[in-house]
Amino acid sequence: MGRQSGICCYCGEVRSFAKAHIISKTLFKDLFKRYGKVHLLNVKDIDGNNKVQDAFFDTHILCAKCDMSFSLFEDYFVQLIRGELLATGITSRIKRSDLGEYMVDKYRPVNYLHLRFFYLLTLWRCGISQQSSFTSVSLGNDEQKIHKLLQLKEPGDYKDYATVLVSFAEVDDIRALTAIGPANAMVGVIPIIVILFDQWALIYCLKKQVKEWFFQYALNDSGDLSVVIFKESFGVNFLNQLTHNQVHLRKADVFGE
Ligand SMILES: [Zn+2]
Repeated sequence: MGRQSGICCYCGEVRSFAKAHIISKTLFKDLFKRYGKVHLLNVKDIDGNNKVQDAFFDTHILCAKCDMSFSLFEDYFVQLIRGELLATGITSRIKRSDLGEYMVDKYRPVNYLHLRFFYLLTLWRCGISQQSSFTSVSLGNDEQKIHKLLQLKEPGDYKDYATVLVSFAEVDDIRALTAIGPANAMVGVIPIIVILFDQWALIYCLKKQVKEWFFQYALNDSGDLSVVIFKESFGVNFLNQLTHNQVHLRKADVFGE
């Protein structure tokens, strides 16, 4: 059976819809490889009849051609967080700063445009998707602005939709938690969206009234990348403050297929 057709949110043409992943499918592949097939559950569904999901996808947003065209940015990001760019000497860690509750690693050089477009793309797809896990993510006028930047391949000002890459690598039990949703409780950073896979999260800032530290670590066009690494319970507390739409991730064998 063919897929449904409709207007692709990216190119605007009437085409067959693809199975478009909101969060790059490759990120889930790594997760599945490490932990086996997993369930992704909204907190509110945790006692209900849970379905196995093939990551988060939406079959009513993008045509196959547009969906495919994003893989360059997705592959770059995945290579980076897997450490493949480090292993091949393409990029290096140039500094680690221990700031008590968190550390900051600095990498150089990174492909700013690839990362910036990956960040924008992920944010935009979260915004346009009607998939239940993303219905609380609403970008308003920014949805169109981000779409335009992506189409024109213009990075825009990095302080618009500033994004910080966060790692919870030091926290063992955080692996059991995947959090997606807008947040409004973080002092000075309003609103934000957190997308966390395994130990990785992207924190977005949609407005400019944020504390200095946020911009200090946000991706910018200097060619450096800062990764904020939360330690121990600070990471868990931080997440709890940020999210009111937590999604738990559990191995399939807990629930059965
Ligand atoms: Zn399209």
